[in-house]
Amino acid sequence: MKTDIRLPLGLPEFTVLKQEITENKVVIQVETMDPPERCPYCGFQEWKKHDQRLRSVRDLPIHNRPVYLIIQLKRWHCTNCQEIFDEHLPSVPKSKHQTHRFRKYVFDMCPGVTISYVSRQVHLPYKTIPGFRQPFKVHSCLFMISARHW
Ligand SMILES: [Zn+2]
Repeated sequence: MKTDIRLPLGLPEFTVLKQEITENKVVIQVETMDPPERCPYCGFQEWKKHDQRLRSVRDLPIHNRPVYLIIQLKRWHCTNCQEIFDEHLPSVPKSKHQTHRFRKYVFDMCPGVTISYVSRQVHLPYKTIPGFRQPFKVHSCLFMISARHW
């Protein structure tokens, strides 16, 4: 009898390479398949792959287990202006270690509860959580009101 289910990742830029589910977490290795459209510095459309590194990013939990995306992040070298640039990830804010949707999920937990409660629920450091308000300007007033209760 089969007891597993398959769910789409729901992050269209990624292809799933491998997944590991343990009692405590879910680790999903992903990479993008599409090359960049243009060099962000000069707009030129010719480049070559410079290198690749791994980046760990938190995503929405599955069955109350934290989910870590291990992204094989590519860097490109523009053959026109010689600049090196990271690939663009629509689902992950630049220089952040959480997907947009995970940051919204954490933010939506905040009203009416303490930061330390949310910190324990999502297994994130206490100081990380207040920074999640920035991309969600619609909710920023709510966040400020609820922050008084923290
Ligand atoms: Zn360029």
